[in-house]
Amino acid sequence: MREAPNIGCTNDAGESAGNSVGRMTGSASSPAERGEGKVSSTAELVASVVRPEIRALSAYAVPRAEGMVKLDAMENPYPLPGPVRARFDAALSRVAVNRYPDGSAEATKAALRQALGISGRQAVLLGNGSDELIQIITSALARPGAVMLAPEPSFVMYPMNALFAGMRFVGVPLSADFSLDLPAMRSAIEREQPSLVFIAYPNNPTGNLFAARDVEAVLRAAPGLVVVDEAYYAFAESSFLPRIAEHPNLLVLRTVSKVGLAGIRLGYAVAAPEWIAELNKVRAPYNVNALTQAGAAALLADTDWIAEQASAIRAERARLEAALARLPGATVFPTQTNFVLVRVADAKAVFDGLKARRILVKNVHGWHPLLANCLRITVGTPEENDLLLAACAELCQ
Ligand code: PMP
Repeated sequence: MREAPNIGCTNDAGESAGNSVGRMTGSASSPAERGEGKVSSTAELVASVVRPEIRALSAYAVPRAEGMVKLDAMENPYPLPGPVRARFDAALSRVAVNRYPDGSAEATKAALRQALGISGRQAVLLGNGSDELIQIITSALARPGAVMLAPEPSFVMYPMNALFAGMRFVGVPLSADFSLDLPAMRSAIEREQPSLVFIAYPNNPTGNLFAARDVEAVLRAAPGLVVVDEAYYAFAESSFLPRIAEHPNLLVLRTVSKVGLAGIRLGYAVAAPEWIAELNKVRAPYNVNALTQAGAAALLADTDWIAEQASAIRAERARLEAALARLPGATVFPTQTNFVLVRVADAKAVFDGLKARRILVKNVHGWHPLLANCLRITVGTPEENDLLLAACAELCQ
């Protein structure tokens, strides 16, 4: 059990970050901490006031992707279908950009409610991507001494946000098959009494969907809020959205990023109104811009195109899984997302070889011991996947 955020590996907030992200860079003592009185340079001034744990991080590096086959960031590879794009463009052209957006984004929330069938008894909060909602939730719950708990390896922004908000992060290792280690989760919850638990469902970077009964057990054991992060819901076969009424401590987090709309930055949280009312106080007044609000409302007027693209991605995923599994020395892990985690003999060599062939994937080796020699590969178009598979066949002989 680790009690420190896994910030020594990566911050993939934008899901394009390199492995150098978030690396601790050693001692961060300031002149003031060292007892030196006068601050003489900007660097020393910065060092004297910026929190040491922030100075000890390095900002994430986004790998350049121009001209590359981009399979590193879980984006949907397909553009909007023509008629949907026309609806989107028309909505954007009507936006009065001289005005602030609707602070409560009522029309966008109504479109989401309609599209997802969200019950009138539940409340919705929108964010600038679900990344922002993770930040809002964490800062609202970061009472002095409060604990955030999550399985590991999981989404790196959970421990990062714990660090930003001054919350203590407790990571509970997954089992070797990436399932939730329920006895370990239960005893950590019992011991740590976390205010906040994050469960990515399905999980990133492992790709698997935890057993619903295990997540239910966490919901029953946890004394505080449990966020079930369904960023990949479109590719999975299960959701906790219909169970919010049963669990007063459940918040379901989602994003439109993986279904073809990563560029508009829109995430949403659904929970009992009592939670959302408090989280809403932490939100910046106009956190979702007018273009995103108008565009999302237009895009969600019909969602058949999202379901069709997701089903095409699932079909390609199955083809990719089968072909990768045939590579000598490769192990493909079960996935219910739009990416495939695969273990190869030498992840760095394959990553470098792919990069030299202008194919960008994510090397997650070094993020966590369970991810040794693993690559996370986003499902692309059939043509992109063919290029990837041909390159992998050369590299994994
Ligand atoms: N949650 C999980 C589990 C993710 O993998 C991601 C993106 N990689 C996010 C949240 C953030 O998504 P966004 O900010 O694009 O909505």
